[in-house]
Amino acid sequence: MRLYNTLTRKVDEFVTHREGKVGMYTCGPTVYHYAHIGNLRTYIMEDVLEKYLRYSGYDVKRVMNITDVGHLTSDGDTGDDKMLKGAKREHKTVMEIAEFYTNAFFEDCKKLNIRKPDVIEPATACIDLFIEVIQELIRKGYAYEAGGNIYFDTSKPDKYYVFNDFNEEDLEVGVREGVEEDGNKRSKSDFVLWFTKSKFDDQELKWDSPWGTGYPGWHIECSCISMKHLGEYLDLHCGGVDNVFPHHTNEIAQSEAYLGHKWCSQWFHVHHLNTEDGKMSKSKGEFLTVSLLEEKRFDPLAYRFFCLSSHYRKSLTFTFENLENAAAAYSKLIARTAALLGQKTGAVDETELARLKEGFCKAMDDDLNTSNALTALYDVFKSGAGADTKLAAIAEMDKVLSLDIISKAEKLEENSDSDLIPADILQLAEQRRIARAEKNFALADSLRDQISAMGYMVEETRQGTKIRKK
Ligand code: AMP
Ligand code: ZN
Repeated sequence: MRLYNTLTRKVDEFVTHREGKVGMYTCGPTVYHYAHIGNLRTYIMEDVLEKYLRYSGYDVKRVMNITDVGHLTSDGDTGDDKMLKGAKREHKTVMEIAEFYTNAFFEDCKKLNIRKPDVIEPATACIDLFIEVIQELIRKGYAYEAGGNIYFDTSKPDKYYVFNDFNEEDLEVGVREGVEEDGNKRSKSDFVLWFTKSKFDDQELKWDSPWGTGYPGWHIECSCISMKHLGEYLDLHCGGVDNVFPHHTNEIAQSEAYLGHKWCSQWFHVHHLNTEDGKMSKSKGEFLTVSLLEEKRFDPLAYRFFCLSSHYRKSLTFTFENLENAAAAYSKLIARTAALLGQKTGAVDETELARLKEGFCKAMDDDLNTSNALTALYDVFKSGAGADTKLAAIAEMDKVLSLDIISKAEKLEENSDSDLIPADILQLAEQRRIARAEKNFALADSLRDQISAMGYMVEETRQGTKIRKK
């Protein structure tokens, strides 16, 4: 497989440290609020990557942290701890907030068919390990104490800005108006490994350390949790593109300083989902969540389909109109698959199946080109193969795409009285179901009339949509 590597800035052949095994680390959510659908774009694309690696025969171990301490509102060392802000907003304790939003995150993931990582580790469960690693960084001369805090000295590694050529002036951008610069730092790019009393007297969670009572910085947690579960050589590190700097840059600096050798070879970054007004943000009042999509009667898997329709290295604009188009295409896909179910004869053409799978793998091997992989999926319908072969190919591809295509098609077909309801009728019926759910009765009635004009009857029952020939 070939994959773009942010570290080398080119599409590289994916290689692992141990043959056939992948140690994969994912920066997990900061659990001070619900995940927005932008966050979830990143997790959907990482999920597809993980599933494709497994599909290709790799033995993958995936680790994710849960950020429940230390992530400040600026991503650097300024602003408030996001968790504390969340707790204050809801008049709850930080741990209550963390538990609630961690569960909410995994519920959203389940609705989007995102597999749970093999290891999920909250930062607050690893404080001793952070302290141990920070002590070693001090011993090796990579970290220093100033004003009660411990800082990483970014002048010590041979190259600190590994991903890009940031300079000190660029960093000024990260320093917000009204937030005082941290005069303890020897250089602006230095970052905090451990905060003590010098910051936030009202910080709720604090631990004893050799440097006083305090709490860890955000970056150290990912280095430590990754090394704890995946060892000193990491094959693949994932995150959204905003993590490149400072978070991943700092992770590399401290991990390699601690280990004394190169740490992670492949960096996978998903570009952002934006709204038409710009950046998606959790702090802007109502924001886009999976529950909001459901309230508007969208199937969360239609959102997954929407994400898969574009390449992970392109930023993507979210509008409800775009999502509606994706939902209509997704319904059509289900309906076309349902139409195949009634045509089964029991014979799979293995040669044709292999050819169809090859088209899919070719797209996925080419830097995870999910949009071309969907084209390969549509090619199945165009192929001259029989229904069994087509259904087998769809089932194979869906092991990676996770769109529940066959099970949804079966459900749709179960609710049809005839085995052979044409695909265009099934599609119109599905559009009518969505229109009804959205309470767009005018559209629902006009779709029913269209179906009727084509010789079929459609009705909604407790068991779902029923379609029969007139
Ligand atoms: P957070 O919960 O803020 O720690 O972010 C969780 C993940 O979502 C990280 O990998 C971020 O890089 C990623 N992320 C944040 N905003 C967006 C966005 N608008 N689109 C895609 N991914 C995002
Ligand atoms: Zn991280």
